[in-house]
Amino acid sequence: MAREEFDHIVVGGGSSGCVAAARLVADGGHRVLLLEGGHSNRHPLLDMPPGIFKMINGSKFMDYHTTVPQPHLNGRAHDIPQGNVLGGGSSVNAQVYMRGRPSDYNAWDATLRGNNDGADWSWDAVLKHFRGMEDNNRLLNDLHGTGGKMQVSDPGHIDQMSRWFVQAVQGLGEPFNPDFNGPSQRGVGFYQFMNRHGRRSSAAYAFLSPLEGDPRLTVRLQSRAERLIIEKGRAVGVVWRDKSGAQRESFTRGEIIVTSGALITPKLLMLSGLGPADHLRDHDITVAADLPGVGQNLIDHPEVPMIATANGPYGYFKQGVGWRMLMNGLQFKLFGSGRILSAGVEAGAFVNPTDPEAEPTIQAFCVPIVYLDRDTLTLVENTYGLTVTTVVVKPKSRGEVRLRSANPADKPLVSPNLLKHPEDMAAMIAGQRFFIRAFQTEPLAARVKRLAIPDPAKLDDATLTEHCKRFVKTNYHPASTARMGADGDPMAVLDSWMRVRCVEGLRVADMSAVPDINAGNTNAPAMMLGDRCADFIMGRA
Ligand SMILES: Cc1cc2nc3c(=O)[nH]c(=O)nc-3n(C[C@H](O)[C@H](O)[C@H](O)COP(=O)(O)OP(=O)(O)OC[C@H]3O[C@@H](n4cnc5c(N)ncnc54)[C@H](O)[C@@H]3O)c2cc1C
Repeated sequence: MAREEFDHIVVGGGSSGCVAAARLVADGGHRVLLLEGGHSNRHPLLDMPPGIFKMINGSKFMDYHTTVPQPHLNGRAHDIPQGNVLGGGSSVNAQVYMRGRPSDYNAWDATLRGNNDGADWSWDAVLKHFRGMEDNNRLLNDLHGTGGKMQVSDPGHIDQMSRWFVQAVQGLGEPFNPDFNGPSQRGVGFYQFMNRHGRRSSAAYAFLSPLEGDPRLTVRLQSRAERLIIEKGRAVGVVWRDKSGAQRESFTRGEIIVTSGALITPKLLMLSGLGPADHLRDHDITVAADLPGVGQNLIDHPEVPMIATANGPYGYFKQGVGWRMLMNGLQFKLFGSGRILSAGVEAGAFVNPTDPEAEPTIQAFCVPIVYLDRDTLTLVENTYGLTVTTVVVKPKSRGEVRLRSANPADKPLVSPNLLKHPEDMAAMIAGQRFFIRAFQTEPLAARVKRLAIPDPAKLDDATLTEHCKRFVKTNYHPASTARMGADGDPMAVLDSWMRVRCVEGLRVADMSAVPDINAGNTNAPAMMLGDRCADFIMGRA
């Protein structure tokens, strides 16, 4: 059989991969193969914002990783669901539109400027991409754009409970912030979302749909890459398994762009012989390049919930009340309005509880529902209420991704070490204390029946530390496991052009690539990475 060859191959059709593939085809005129391990994104559950509640707790559109037991969390393991569908995280996430703040990117740039001929990662450089991709339904200014492919909108529905939360936090002295991606992150307000009229604007929908039928783009679904083929120091192809289980190979004379997400990208590199040499030898993998940084430096945003029950039918619903969901569905179908337009989270905040004028240390999400999962199910009654989660936005804890075995079908061993660093724990406790006060501040206080977790009578450090250890989980933002770094940085896997060191023709363009995590959600940054990588390949930086 003739060897199948493309101009470029993109491995992983998630937030970054869809953008990179689409740009290479549409703007570069290249013939591109996009290999996606997951399913088609054509499903109503993916489109409607509340679908996330169903998906998180069990769906074929998610790939469920469980961490190795975390000794510093009393041996607890927690889940890290990741998208398993075209569009990746952008097809399953809560759609909150956040970029992070200029200092995030200026710090990357300062780190990466150690490179000879390094790429520009400053805020001004990345802002062009954020703005260019954006079609904002309210804002057009130096920071926001219209006419881009990704639809960004104000919430289609705001529950009264979210408004009470916003007012309560203002009562604590925080300003109302009309735009968390504006000049300042600080304050409380309503998020913007990557959707329009209740339809998700995933990377697949926004970037791939316009190319449907274009013969230059080949998208293969349920096609899982197993390893890269490296010949004479150059990445030339991919070994992958198709839907039927048959092993296949595809080749390129151009570049391979790995975008399989921060948990799978390092696994793929290691299975291809690119990683810490000792670890690869332990698994009888021939070392193509000793890159000790592959799989190291895992960063994720830790999230800890606070749950209050309400003294009336406030907030969305009791979980499992099917007729109510049906009514909501009907309202959406007939009038295009109602709760189906909300992914649950509408309001949020960025605060610094210890130094209010300094950059925020904590992001909060307000979800007007008693959110029950396997950790909280037995502790809180299934009734109306409110969940507020606090997230440490610049965590110092670092974890790792390692191979479980050399079998591509095995999931990697993931150890994120959430809240292991004492400064992360201290920031989280300060954040919890701050938002507990919001539950006790009007107009929210009048609607709260009881704060179920944590116990408001026990807010000493030791008890709050145990609360955090018991409930901390991922905010779904794994990052930095194959990071860019300056020349001479032994843990740098990539140079500042996202090229894998020591190998020709290979780049990583997903959240694995970032030198540090941005303060805030990570979908827009992932899409920015895909956009920039395409520019780098096309020589348009
Ligand atoms: C439940 C959830 C909620 C979130 N909420 C938000 C939010 O509200 N706002 C926000 O900004 N961010 C949110 N995020 C985070 C954001 O979506 C991710 O950071 C972002 O999608 C990461 O993009 P990526 O390109 O790095 O990886 P991904 O989007 O995860 O893409 C990786 C892709 O590679 C595919 N893949 C994996 N292995 C293979 C293989 N071997 N071969 C081929 N393909 C493979 C996967 O199926 C996936 O499509 C959320 C994430 C999740 C999971």
